[in-house]
Amino acid sequence: MSDIAHPSRTRAILKKYRLSPKKSLGQNFLIDANILKYIVRTAEIDAHTGVIEIGPGIGALTEHLARAAKRVLAFEIDRRLIPVLQENLAAFPHVQIIHQDVLEADLKQFAAACFERNQPLSVVANLPYYVTTPILIHVLESGIFFRHMVVMVQKEVARRLTAQPGSKDYGSLSILVQYYTACRYMKLVPKTVFIPQPNVDSAIVKLSRREAPPVRVDDESFFFRLIRASFAMRRKTLINNLLAHFLPKEDKPALLDALAQVEVDGNRRAESLSMAEFARISQALKQKLQG
Ligand code: SAM
Repeated sequence: MSDIAHPSRTRAILKKYRLSPKKSLGQNFLIDANILKYIVRTAEIDAHTGVIEIGPGIGALTEHLARAAKRVLAFEIDRRLIPVLQENLAAFPHVQIIHQDVLEADLKQFAAACFERNQPLSVVANLPYYVTTPILIHVLESGIFFRHMVVMVQKEVARRLTAQPGSKDYGSLSILVQYYTACRYMKLVPKTVFIPQPNVDSAIVKLSRREAPPVRVDDESFFFRLIRASFAMRRKTLINNLLAHFLPKEDKPALLDALAQVEVDGNRRAESLSMAEFARISQALKQKLQG
């Protein structure tokens, strides 16, 4: 039998189970086995690797992961797809399908229960477009020690994840992702390799977890809230955004002091600031507010 990731097999599965893909759940199924092989290679999966897959759909990617990995844990939100996955992946007892919204899953607990200590772990997903950012943040903040996360996202999101200061794509998501991981844009994927076809092209991004963050931050929650507020209105200056979205007006002197101390001009826009500059502002401002 051909791979699930083949146009005729995918159509046959959809017909057999009387399934119509749900746009509201971002259901665009991959039908190109070469792309799936590329994803498995990029995620550096071998016979020792544990894998968490998000959104297995009808199992196209799961099948390729199962052939390469020691164990696969796949979270699927759509109840209709559970019997499809169980039947089509029955040959792989080391694949476990979990019917759950991944955003509600305690990934750390699942990883502790299902994978061995020190086992290499990869997270892999052709992400549903409507919820890409929350899922990425959920995985990054879950505390699971993945080595690599390889995700297919909309091309525009891929640009945001890998953007550097000064570009229009650079924002709080770029900094959050690059704080935890070294992030690389790997490959453009045309919309023609999905059923149904989405409106835009996609790209594969590889995020490799850093041993330690690239900057020193004592209070990560404060740091990330400060960054989100700094980008609240992209055309506003740093000071104006922080006073409108992060600090009460009476803290303006502390903010001006902190910016002077770290030699950052508060009239700059957030998109021109590096992660290192945000880290210095965060450290200095926290100290001023406490002192
Ligand atoms: N992996 C399959 C493939 O590549 O053909 C399907 C990918 S499709 C773009 C996204 C999948 O994620 C769908 O099966 C959808 O039902 C599932 N999904 C959407 N939101 C989810 C969530 N919050 N938690 C888990 N799965 C979700």
